[in-house]
Amino acid sequence: MPEQEYNLQGADPMLPRFLRVRRAVVETHDTITLELDDSNAAPQFAPGQFNMLYLFGAGEVAISISGPPDDRQTLVHTIRGVGAVTGPILQLRRGAILGVRGPYGSAWPLHEVSNGGRDLLLMAGGIGLAPLRPVIYEVLRRRREFGNLTILYGARTPADLLYRGELAQWRMFPGVSVKLIVDRAAGVWSGRIGVITDLLRTVQFDPAETIAMICGPEVMMRFAYHELVRRGLAAERIYMSMERNMKCAVGWCGHCQLSPFFICKDGPVFRADRIQPLLATREL
Ligand SMILES: Cc1cc2nc3c(=O)[nH]c(=O)nc-3n(C[C@H](O)[C@H](O)[C@H](O)COP(=O)(O)OP(=O)(O)OC[C@H]3O[C@@H](n4cnc5c(N)ncnc54)[C@H](O)[C@@H]3O)c2cc1C
Repeated sequence: MPEQEYNLQGADPMLPRFLRVRRAVVETHDTITLELDDSNAAPQFAPGQFNMLYLFGAGEVAISISGPPDDRQTLVHTIRGVGAVTGPILQLRRGAILGVRGPYGSAWPLHEVSNGGRDLLLMAGGIGLAPLRPVIYEVLRRRREFGNLTILYGARTPADLLYRGELAQWRMFPGVSVKLIVDRAAGVWSGRIGVITDLLRTVQFDPAETIAMICGPEVMMRFAYHELVRRGLAAERIYMSMERNMKCAVGWCGHCQLSPFFICKDGPVFRADRIQPLLATREL
């Protein structure tokens, strides 16, 4: 079927566009990065936003956009296979078709960092590096507008680290520091072992000049938040990206409701002082 016949985009936010996989990069044993050909009608996205990816016969899932925001030809997603939809997505290769609707949701507040050339502290756990990667691309592209960039990244094992080639490249930029930590390691790993708050203790930052952005499992974000506050960073300078079970992505179905918020519309990126009290409430 010709490519344009797949393009069903209309005003209906529930209708996907159908895009072809241009390249599939196997990142780890359970994670893949798909580069989709979006050269026809790529809508602009802001770092932190997500798309709904639809796989025929399997279903639809929310996945952050993990590629460069200035690339209007390619749409990039990094997917960890955990279940009924993401599992089969892991098997997709060049030429496969995926439905895409979006972009949706709130963005990381990069303007707050570039305004005055503040420092940026990123803390990512596991697949949480994916929604922060567009931030890194943007800061490196507009390097002079930002102060120091510190990337703290934790994974379960060295083999679970994403974007390994890029991690090495990013730390070559002036004013950029990349620090890694893993939960456990066997063999040749000479880096740190522990949790991401251990890494934070090795970093100096000026609370008056720093904005922090955190993405990872909720428990990791909670501990990271408390450690940042303990180190003097105001809660209004901390942002985190939330994940909840999501179906419609446009605030109709209520699946992703977290007390007064719909994660899909009000988030996924929240200022920490708005969301933190809810994270501390059990069963929410
Ligand atoms: C805004 C937003 C952005 C997201 N961005 C990404 C992204 O960039 N990359 C990505 O891989 N995922 C991302 N996710 C998570 C992704 O949507 C889920 O992993 C996906 O919906 C799981 O669907 P499934 O049908 O494959 O699994 P299901 O069959 O629904 O779940 C199977 C099992 O996996 C568990 N599970 C579900 N989600 C997760 C998870 N995130 N981690 C561990 N276990 C889980 C379930 O509890 C269940 O036990 C994002 C979610 C949101 C809300």
